[in-house]
Amino acid sequence: MSAAASSAAAQPLQDAEQLIDSVETFIFDCDGVIWKGDKLIDGVPQTLDMLRSKGKRLVFVTNNSTKSRKQYGKKFETLGLDVSEEEIFASSFAAAAYLASINFPKDKKVYVIGEDGILKELELAGFQYLGGPGDGEKKIELKPGYRMEHDKDVGAVVVGFDRYFNYYKVQYGTLCVRENPGCLFIATNRDAVTHLTDAQEWAGGGSMVGALCGSTQREPLVVGKPSTFMMDYLANKFGILKSQICMVGDRLDTDILFGQNGGCKTLLVLSGVTSLSMLQSPKNTIQPDFYTNKISDFLSLKTAAV
Ligand SMILES: [Mg+2]
Repeated sequence: MSAAASSAAAQPLQDAEQLIDSVETFIFDCDGVIWKGDKLIDGVPQTLDMLRSKGKRLVFVTNNSTKSRKQYGKKFETLGLDVSEEEIFASSFAAAAYLASINFPKDKKVYVIGEDGILKELELAGFQYLGGPGDGEKKIELKPGYRMEHDKDVGAVVVGFDRYFNYYKVQYGTLCVRENPGCLFIATNRDAVTHLTDAQEWAGGGSMVGALCGSTQREPLVVGKPSTFMMDYLANKFGILKSQICMVGDRLDTDILFGQNGGCKTLLVLSGVTSLSMLQSPKNTIQPDFYTNKISDFLSLKTAAV
């Protein structure tokens, strides 16, 4: 057994009430926990209501950067969930919040390889940006002697999941990172796969980030899970102790690692990408504190001991 696998094996959640009583905040991943694609997972509204009635703070954190917090708020609303924008933290927001946290100069620009959510959050934070979905239509014609010009004022390249990814963007981002002195390389996440449809897994944000790693020979600063940037941000914003947080997610290498990196309790739900056999595989080195089928088990498993 490797050193990383030395932590105790995850336990099935037996006493939900005890877990609920032991923390003041629940951080939920969204896809695979709250919904699957566009379908709400069974029992979620009742579970969230129950937790709120017990005075728990609820926070929703997603690595998906294609939407802004406002756009996510609409998704919750469409699914009939009463969640406010202030409770939602998407990696699109994390990118803007990170730049704000380091006082990224307002006269510098951000080149975006990613979708609308990142642009919206940068705009809200008052940063200048270029790129985004608009560059998805740009093509490169390699005539003899052709050279691409790039903006020397770009001081950060932010890369997230991008359905309109192309060679123009790779080259533009590469020029900024390689040739603009001090230019930052920021990734919203490095997720290997994502669930664009429920029929199969699709190449995730990690694939776009990987292209830039290859061309720049640099590693990005990751602001989404499992990096602790968002956890630190949340703990600061709400004034919560990390030991008073339970991170609930369906993915070991992002959600559970995120919770563990932050010093939180962790609960894996099997309603998303991770199966029980994946959790229990000898190859898996990430063990949550507890696992259960879905968050509505909080309802049926409570007071089991009474
Ligand atoms: Mg998920």
